[in-house]
Amino acid sequence: MPIALEQLVANGPVITDGAWGTELQARGLDPGDIPDLWNLARPEAVAEVAQAYIDAGSQIILTNTFGANRIRLGDHVPASQVPEINRRGVQLSRQAAAGRALVFASIGPTGKLLLTNEVTPETLATAFTEQAQALAEGGADALVIETMADLTEATIALEAAKTTGLPVVACMVFDTGKDKDRTLMGITPEQAARALTEAGADAIGANCGVGIERYVPVCRRLRNATQRPVWIKPNAGCPTVVEGRITYNTSPAEFAAHVPDLRAAGASFIGGCCGTNPRFIQAIAQSLHPTAFEDSTLARRGREGGQAQQGLHEPEDSTGSEAAPR
Ligand SMILES: [Zn+2]
Repeated sequence: MPIALEQLVANGPVITDGAWGTELQARGLDPGDIPDLWNLARPEAVAEVAQAYIDAGSQIILTNTFGANRIRLGDHVPASQVPEINRRGVQLSRQAAAGRALVFASIGPTGKLLLTNEVTPETLATAFTEQAQALAEGGADALVIETMADLTEATIALEAAKTTGLPVVACMVFDTGKDKDRTLMGITPEQAARALTEAGADAIGANCGVGIERYVPVCRRLRNATQRPVWIKPNAGCPTVVEGRITYNTSPAEFAAHVPDLRAAGASFIGGCCGTNPRFIQAIAQSLHPTAFEDSTLARRGREGGQAQQGLHEPEDSTGSEAAPR
């Protein structure tokens, strides 16, 4: 039976994961290379990223499948390999999770614009349906549509994802306009929340953007426009290029300082996007569950020589008792 997202977040925010691309780059992926291909070429590196997030406290991890639709992969792989890349992506996250975290499989945009007739709605629907079905076959607990700027593309992806019967989280990027509260196509949080709720999303969200601070009001507006749980994964501030490398200006501690505001604004799922890493997830976990963090993880890491082997909330989750205030 599919998990119920409402139930999952009933006791407070659930911690998701951070960026994958930069973590894969730290393990040798060339910035110009396609990360999704590593599900077949370098599976151990992909599993390591998932593992690092779980060790840091992620209760939900995503998959290395953000760009694994046939439109985006294009000529880089034979079309017949597209489902396999998606299935493997889920399997790698699932193996790394080993029951300690749920696996929500990532579906990103195709990179083609409906607005300029670069692609048709039918072609989008075919590509997203193929990807969603493969992710479901791989064993995903839920699907996450993320980094969408176009509400029509997001809705087509959502409808395709819903055909699997799995819960679906639908997220857009709000990074444009005077207050950085619109998508590139001009969609407001209210418009996104209403349309995606109407189209059947089980959670509504915002990811990437221009940093965590700007996503506090965006979160509140999403919260007020839908009954569904709200999923927030901000990036680590605006990227700047320093000596040819993209860097982000927010530290894990600065990021985590806004987590209480995000929680007060109604976020039910909290994680990070571009520029975040396992240290950000650890900081989020510490902010949300300071007592659990001190009692279990730090003590355990002390015992195990700096290696956190368990999810942060395993004692709470396994006993059902609540030692730490949420
Ligand atoms: Zn991002």
